[in-house]
Amino acid sequence: MDSKLTIGISACVLGQKVRFNAGHKRSAFCTDQLGEFADFVPVCPEVAIGLPTPRPTIRQILNDDIITVSQPDGSGDVTQALKDFGQAHAKTTFDMAGFIFCAKSPTCGMERVKVYYHHGKGSASTGVGVFAEQVMQANPCLPVEENDRLNDPVIKENFITRIFVYHRWLKTRKSGLTKHKLITFHRAHKYLVMSHHIESYRALGQLLARADQPLEQQADQYILGLMTALKIKATRKSHTNTLQHLQGYFKKQLTAEKKQALSEEINAYREGYSPLLVPLTLINHHLKEFPNEYLSDQVYLTPHPKELKLRYGY
Ligand code: SF4
Repeated sequence: MDSKLTIGISACVLGQKVRFNAGHKRSAFCTDQLGEFADFVPVCPEVAIGLPTPRPTIRQILNDDIITVSQPDGSGDVTQALKDFGQAHAKTTFDMAGFIFCAKSPTCGMERVKVYYHHGKGSASTGVGVFAEQVMQANPCLPVEENDRLNDPVIKENFITRIFVYHRWLKTRKSGLTKHKLITFHRAHKYLVMSHHIESYRALGQLLARADQPLEQQADQYILGLMTALKIKATRKSHTNTLQHLQGYFKKQLTAEKKQALSEEINAYREGYSPLLVPLTLINHHLKEFPNEYLSDQVYLTPHPKELKLRYGY
């Protein structure tokens, strides 16, 4: 990879002691592994709007259908300040490849934030952090995740795949977009999209086949469609289908024994006996033996650096 990704991150997830109790929520994956490939842009919205560290806890409180963020007794309402800061900060995310939020926070949580009922007891985990919401609304293509969810290997691989795709997209766009570059980008992502959502691959192809739209408008629709499709988690079934398509490229070159061995590895993966990495390694091996430019360009075969070891666990 020739340039590092730029990733926004809740400052406490990067290890900064900015939480209400002057603690942090450092993610070792982010700092020790992803940090090799990314430059992080940390932000603590609560500190940014002037709250001290340490500070009293704040929470989301539902009152007459309106959610506010304040201390539990309703004092110190910072809802508008966090919204304003979120809207301003969101403008700085347009050249970022992704954003990692701190889970459960009334400010930074991406989803399932606790909302307390104003009168009486109880809460529902239905909220979205006020800051996170502004960033996500302003930049719907931006890949986002939470530190806690990155402990799930499938969610982690999905997010890392998306940030590398988006990073490539930002670079392509910055280099000056042409129709040819857009189509080349789409071709390179064929099997990746297929492994997530085959219908989207077809729909995106149809979108690019249209000649009645300005390029910029088409590109905006394309990348939103692509990033939305990649959010859909690839399954063993959809990966198996993709692997079988790739297998088809070697049907004339491989001996019967090698074809059989590849089929067996794909089946073992389909049935859950081996990780995705095993049939993919075999396919990459065959690709070295029988070079194919179209396949070599496929992002699906190497969507992220192997050092991140993301296809070992499932
Ligand atoms: S969750 Fe967000 S607001 Fe809270 S300490 Fe971390 S960065 Fe600051």
